[in-house]
Amino acid sequence: MSEPDKLNPSRIVYHRGSVVYARFKFGGPDDYRHPLDVPNGLGCGCVCDECNEQLLGCANDSVKVAAGLYKKIPYFSHQSNTKCAPGGERGLMEAFRLVLDSLRSFCLPEARYSSGDGEVHDVVYRPAATVELNSFALVPKVSGFPYELLLKTGGGDVRLLVVTKKPGAAVFESVKQQPVPTVVAHMIPDHEGIILMRDVLAAVQKGSSVVWVSLPEMDAFAAEKRRLREAEQERIRQAEEEAQVNADILKKEKLRRMDEEAKKAGLVKLLCAGCKEETRYGLASDDWQKCDTCNRMTFFWPIKTLA
Ligand SMILES: [Zn+2]
Ligand SMILES: [Zn+2]
Repeated sequence: MSEPDKLNPSRIVYHRGSVVYARFKFGGPDDYRHPLDVPNGLGCGCVCDECNEQLLGCANDSVKVAAGLYKKIPYFSHQSNTKCAPGGERGLMEAFRLVLDSLRSFCLPEARYSSGDGEVHDVVYRPAATVELNSFALVPKVSGFPYELLLKTGGGDVRLLVVTKKPGAAVFESVKQQPVPTVVAHMIPDHEGIILMRDVLAAVQKGSSVVWVSLPEMDAFAAEKRRLREAEQERIRQAEEEAQVNADILKKEKLRRMDEEAKKAGLVKLLCAGCKEETRYGLASDDWQKCDTCNRMTFFWPIKTLA
């Protein structure tokens, strides 16, 4: 089969419940084949990863995709071990391998961080960009962890996790503890459980459904930004506090002088019945005025005779 067939956008590369790519018995450990590229039946020469049983190539069988709904899906069938269910994730990695090998590039998605303390990632750290691939390799599968490719780019290593359902929090925790920048491709099957080569091409070429889960360099940058912002806020707070202290001193001094003047004039100090400010002077009977502090027409009570 020629390359274009292998990268045909409408080729089914994953079907939930079926083995769409299987290991070729006569090839290397990473030689996986699609049913459309091998003869049907036992002649396919492919074996199951899980139980090692020789599989049957089924290029044109109808497979149940929903209740009462059948669709032509190329897959590999077990001969007898019907209980074996290896899933299709390994096959999906083969689709990624084919696309990466052909394009020799990968689109890293846009990277954003949060400017505040919230979860909204509103600041673009780096726009989406296509990087050249020097090489890439499938990382040996760890149980409970998604399939992973290590991409070696001109800008450094990037881990690419490929999942068909949202991974648990433990996976993200583990990823964040590693120094290598990591993206995850959320390859979510359609309602019939199918992923097409088109979806893999879009992920690799355009970064569709690919997101950063760890970018230590950006995290350090964002942390430094946050530190600077907090230092600036603290500086402003201290300056405001200082200005307030100075204003209080000036106000006290002004009052002291007003008290002195009033005393000379033989007046008493008055207190606003509304806001309790002691800002007025008058005769003991001077009582209905507008308060400069609270702006109300109110009573002013004589509070003491100025000593
Ligand atoms: Zn099996
Ligand atoms: Zn007042």
